[in-house]
Amino acid sequence: MNVTTVGVIGAGTMGNGIAHVFAQSGFQVVLVDVEQKFLDKAKATIEKNLGRMVDKQKITQEVKDATLAHIKTSLNLEDVKPCQVVVEAVIEDAPTKKTLWKRLDAMCPAETVFASNTSSISITELAAVTKRTDKFIGMHFMNPVPMMQLVEIIRGIATSEETFKLVFDLSTKVGKTPVEVNDYPGFISNRVLMPMINEAAYCLMEGVATKEAIDTVMKLGMAHPMGPLTLADLIGLDVCLNIMEVLYTGFSDSKYRPCPLLKKMVAAGYLGRKSGKGFYSYT
Ligand code: NAD
Repeated sequence: MNVTTVGVIGAGTMGNGIAHVFAQSGFQVVLVDVEQKFLDKAKATIEKNLGRMVDKQKITQEVKDATLAHIKTSLNLEDVKPCQVVVEAVIEDAPTKKTLWKRLDAMCPAETVFASNTSSISITELAAVTKRTDKFIGMHFMNPVPMMQLVEIIRGIATSEETFKLVFDLSTKVGKTPVEVNDYPGFISNRVLMPMINEAAYCLMEGVATKEAIDTVMKLGMAHPMGPLTLADLIGLDVCLNIMEVLYTGFSDSKYRPCPLLKKMVAAGYLGRKSGKGFYSYT
């Protein structure tokens, strides 16, 4: 299949980045969300990020203009019908994603390939609500999408070789390095990363050390570019908690129990950078 047009559903943190990289690589993009304000914000973010790349002389003004011209925003899901591939990046909530995929399955041509950017929800489970389990796959970009090299490509139980190859090749075409992963809770990235962040929260809760000390140990001792608590604030504490819940229930194993401090902070609305307060304060 020759892919020329890609649908991106959800114009939030990840959706705007995904639209950006596809558009910059020459694909036509249809970016859909449920409210105009989210689309406007996404367009402004993409424009700002492209502007920064122009300033740093990583791209030319012409590339910036062409990239923006490749992105069509819409509030109408039906507008993704002409797309050969649809990438979903709506909130990390299984019922929301399933409802959306059911609608898309009913309206898109049978050959359209469906990819979810979910961080942790089972690809097999999402695929099962469609009649095209062979054409359903996980395409897990990292945040911030324009900067990060990795895409985890997750095979659901019924994903065909053809679909896998198409999405693998597509990832290289947008300048990313795809890595093949099978469908288990948290895939690789979050199965390894989140328990580390959760354990850092336990260390803080138990008074093993201050937040600064925990982050410094991991930065200077393990050569991590940022400490786990700083990273948690960047990702969003609600997202971290959500993923820990998926690991906990998915494996039915107490070693993944979410840290009570993490739960308490999320309940208080301390979500990290996006809410102005997490483990650190952002004013
Ligand atoms: P976000 O909350 O920033 O954006 C989600 C967007 O989806 C919102 O703009 C919302 O209005 C929109 N939306 C919700 N329901 C919709 C619907 N039915 N139709 C169209 N749009 C709808 O979330 P995000 O951080 O961009 O995460 C999106 C997905 O990417 C999640 O599955 C998340 O787990 C995954 N992910 C997130 C990160 C991260 O660091 N934030 C990293 C990798 C993967």
